[in-house]
Amino acid sequence: MLKSTDCLGNSDPSYEIPAAQAARTPKLDRTIELRLRDLRLPMRHAFTIALGTTTVQHNLLVELQQDGMKGYGEGASSHAYHAFTADSMRAALEAARPQIEHESLDDPSTLWDRLLPVLGHNRFALCALDQAAHDLWGKLRGAPVWKRWGLELRNLPLSNYTLGIDPIEKMVAKMKEFDGWPIYKIKLGTPDDLAVVRELRRHTDAVFRIDANTAWSVEQTLALAPELKTLGVEFIEQPLKADDWEEMRRVFRECPLPVFADESCLVEEDVPRCAGFFHGINIKLTKAGGLMPARRMIARARELGLRVMVGCMNESSVGISAIGQLLPLLDYVDMDGAVLIARISPPVYTWTRVARFFLTRMATESGCWILLNEPAHPRNRSHQPLGYHCRGDGRGGLAGADVSLGRAAKRAGACVDHRDSAGEHPRGADGIASLRIRRRLAGAAGHPAAALPRQYS
Ligand code: MG
Repeated sequence: MLKSTDCLGNSDPSYEIPAAQAARTPKLDRTIELRLRDLRLPMRHAFTIALGTTTVQHNLLVELQQDGMKGYGEGASSHAYHAFTADSMRAALEAARPQIEHESLDDPSTLWDRLLPVLGHNRFALCALDQAAHDLWGKLRGAPVWKRWGLELRNLPLSNYTLGIDPIEKMVAKMKEFDGWPIYKIKLGTPDDLAVVRELRRHTDAVFRIDANTAWSVEQTLALAPELKTLGVEFIEQPLKADDWEEMRRVFRECPLPVFADESCLVEEDVPRCAGFFHGINIKLTKAGGLMPARRMIARARELGLRVMVGCMNESSVGISAIGQLLPLLDYVDMDGAVLIARISPPVYTWTRVARFFLTRMATESGCWILLNEPAHPRNRSHQPLGYHCRGDGRGGLAGADVSLGRAAKRAGACVDHRDSAGEHPRGADGIASLRIRRRLAGAAGHPAAALPRQYS
């Protein structure tokens, strides 16, 4: 057996590679090639949070190529972090190109440590590179990243769907566009905050989460929280400014709802600081610098008794697929970024489609299961190219994914019915097959998702 340790320094038997398997690992061309591409992703709806509005999301796509295989990662800009634009990420990666292209992909976690000195000043760029390294690492070895980490597909949390700030009637309309989603995350930070939640509650029984994106004061938080609790809110994310620690301690003690850190918890060093001030943390790969530090943050949060959520930026399925690798480690997840991006052609997504998208691919694909609209590598010949939700030219779609997922569903033995949950007839395979797979996975793991409402089956 070849011993292997994970990024946490643990020597886990599940990481040991049988000698026979190691012998089958192909000899690789060690040359890594870095490619960078701009992604300009039109949003489905203008997306407003307390810190700004996005209509077109400008991200950076990172591609690493070795031995004819390609791994992908995504750096997503955000109103909350103005210094990290797609241009600044590109500049940081170009400056580090000589080192990146002479690195080894034997272990993405040690690669991250080696690149920290040259990319640590731009964690968003480091994140995109780390995602691409993990994706390529898994693809070269023919295994999903979660499996390489020794994880199992158990206790997978459901993602919320996020409603950006808008007039109340538009927020209701946006929620109805994704009617039946089990959890909605509501962005707040206006004088109408309570009225928004009251009105949304009139139209759904779903769980609510609130994200104030630093817009509230202590007094506002404590005044709003009791009624928010009666309205079915699960927790409040980042009510106060990121460095309002003393005020946050009071909220932590007096607020009837759990509070989660987002803007107050960016990197590994912030996790212990949150204990005693927040009940949980929302880790984002972009803030932290990728999958490797995110895993260490999760482990540290567990030691401190903090609940763990992983969230996303406005990013395509490239970044979202990387988040998916962490699902078995999480209490909560917000991975709807790719759904917030515009689609040009019908059918409209249902949440079963998202479940299908993540879970069927997660169970069957290698790497972070990221493929683009390009000819498939021979090793992935069984899978049609997966389009990320919107291509850089603004024309997007999931035609490739539909075909691919239909095949994945059939391989998993699912009964494929060519309708989605709304009774529509999408291209290729359907959403029902995915949910049946989901039920099967969840049922095998004893997860409550196995008992989802019948209207989605
Ligand atoms: Mg947030």
